[in-house]
Amino acid sequence: MDTKLLDILACPLCKGPLKLTSDKTELICKADGLAFPVRAGIPVMLETEARTLDVDERLDK
Ligand SMILES: [Zn+2]
Repeated sequence: MDTKLLDILACPLCKGPLKLTSDKTELICKADGLAFPVRAGIPVMLETEARTLDVDERLDK
């Protein structure tokens, strides 16, 4: 996906920064503990589509 697009993306809930996962399939908001899916290169910024992070994922690695 376009990394410039990532610069303008913010979490729809807390307006905080998002982190693209290494496999580029999800955008993570650590503040909310949510992972927003990236489908065909398009981030889906909907809380209803987001996955809740598990404990391991909430920890910085
Ligand atoms: Zn957030």
